[in-house]
Amino acid sequence: MSYVMNTYNRYKLEFVKGEGSYLFDREGNRYLDFASGIAVTNLGHSNSEISKVICEQSKKLLHTSNLYKIPFQEELAEIISKKSFGGKVFFCNSGAEANEAAIKLARIYGNRKYEGVKYKIVTMTNSFHGRTLATLSATGQDKVKKGFEPTLDFFVSVPFNNYDALYEVVKNEDVVAVMLEPIQGEGGIIAANRTYLQKVRELCNRMDVLLIFDEVQTGVGRTGYLFAYQIYGIEPDIMTLAKGLGNGIPIGAMIANDRFATYFTPGTHASTFGGNYLACAVGKKVLELMDDQLLDDVKKKGVYFKQKLKKIFDDRGEVRGEGLLIGVSLKGVKNTDFIDECHNEHLLCVPAGDNVVRLYPPLIVSYEEIDECIKKLKNVIERLWG
Ligand SMILES: *Cc1c(COP(=O)(O)O)cnc(C)c1O
Repeated sequence: MSYVMNTYNRYKLEFVKGEGSYLFDREGNRYLDFASGIAVTNLGHSNSEISKVICEQSKKLLHTSNLYKIPFQEELAEIISKKSFGGKVFFCNSGAEANEAAIKLARIYGNRKYEGVKYKIVTMTNSFHGRTLATLSATGQDKVKKGFEPTLDFFVSVPFNNYDALYEVVKNEDVVAVMLEPIQGEGGIIAANRTYLQKVRELCNRMDVLLIFDEVQTGVGRTGYLFAYQIYGIEPDIMTLAKGLGNGIPIGAMIANDRFATYFTPGTHASTFGGNYLACAVGKKVLELMDDQLLDDVKKKGVYFKQKLKKIFDDRGEVRGEGLLIGVSLKGVKNTDFIDECHNEHLLCVPAGDNVVRLYPPLIVSYEEIDECIKKLKNVIERLWG
């Protein structure tokens, strides 16, 4: 009997300690963690520099509320702005909250500038934007909405990577924003294609429609770029971040181009915890550690890992992704069965979308650990495909 609400299908695993790329259970068994808490603990478990910031900040000041100026928030906002496309940052505590902020900003823009004529937000089928009522309405997956109807009716969903379908909706004057993940994560590691994204950007410019990139999963180094939009060289107007930004300390952020950011004024949006001392001190350290050297290494490790994966999976799965945002679309075996076998090998990975297994090592993973993962996967493949 558990007193925790029954909202998760949990594995029978539980861990008591983490170190770098490994998690340890109560019996001292060591698991290779290629889940990273779903792209969160990107700098590894018990990262000493992160731990140091948490310890020291906790002895000075954790929280004051946003009634007062918070220097770390100013500093982190400046870093994010300068490392991305400029503009201003709103801090919150999760991915869904960051997307909520983006949705609200798009809404107030449409209301103030176009007197409410522009209000619809277009999202993609197979997308994932969170579990709050607005973000589940934005999400392009029926299973997320099921049981919560009526959902918000100003979201229109169109097939991903299909420009004509998008154009049919955005050509109308009532659309205020287009929201998408540059690479769909929960949907199964499905990347936007370049010419599509380029055309979407041009269409949004032409129609004065905000382009929102949900980089909650793809952001903060996972792809070998600080942000996935940099792979394409196509900038959004708004970007949302969360998962990897705190290495496990809850923090979310919504970055908006100045042209739109000014529509948020005092009283329009807020969060009690958002951007507190602890979260921002950690966020600053995360971005400080996420330097060009580390990102370059992520690119190289990604190439190395994918090459080995392609070899061992062969025609049993399609390997795809950027950097260390990697998914394998399995053929002939259920991803849930596959992951159960991985657990027997003491390897952790994450299911996604249409029979996909996500391999999300921490970005600090070593080549030896990648080899260890390949060895474990080989055993799993042998057992399942024979
Ligand atoms: C995880 C995720 C979210 C939701 O983040 P939460 O912190 O769980 O609210 C939103 N968008 C994307 C792309 C995600 O991967």
